[in-house]
Amino acid sequence: MAVADAFDEHCDYLFKVVLIGESGVGKSNLISRFPKDEFRLDFKPSRGVEFAYRNIKVRDKLIKAQIWDTAGQERFRAITSSYYRGALGAMLVYDITKRATFVNVGKWLHELREFGGEDMVVVLVRNKSDLDQSRQVEREKGKGFAETEGLCFMETSALQNLNVDEAFWK
Ligand code: GDP
Repeated sequence: MAVADAFDEHCDYLFKVVLIGESGVGKSNLISRFPKDEFRLDFKPSRGVEFAYRNIKVRDKLIKAQIWDTAGQERFRAITSSYYRGALGAMLVYDITKRATFVNVGKWLHELREFGGEDMVVVLVRNKSDLDQSRQVEREKGKGFAETEGLCFMETSALQNLNVDEAFWK
């Protein structure tokens, strides 16, 4: 399903952002910080995919970001190229308290670039900053990876709603 299929007459532009990363890193909680069902769509989303929306007003134009969440499909390795197709941006999330979720960030990035293209803007989201005392991935590691790969980066807490908006605006 191309994002154009989901175009809604109530906005001037619509762009797609995908959330990606290991299961349990906090993607659903991050997306829950954005409004859902904010406008009607006359299409049925793919099974297992969830959406949220973010309004952006630039001068007199209304721009909507349609944010896609895997809704647990990553558990079954069921994410397909259509999930990435047409996305202009991605939030690649890991959990700072679980090293394994950081180890796999390279794999997700590879998939993003393979299916979504090289031009996608990617923000590396280091989630669960409220659990700093249980940190397994040092800040410098994440920052170093982001800089090497040319990604934006942000440390968030979906739980405390810290920097979630800022990560989106990156
Ligand atoms: P997903 O599988 O990536 O969608 O992850 P979820 O959003 O379902 O979150 C997995 C678990 O991590 C849940 O128990 C959440 O309550 C918890 N969680 C998510 N974000 C945060 C956060 O920022 N801080 C803390 N402490 N827990 C979080």
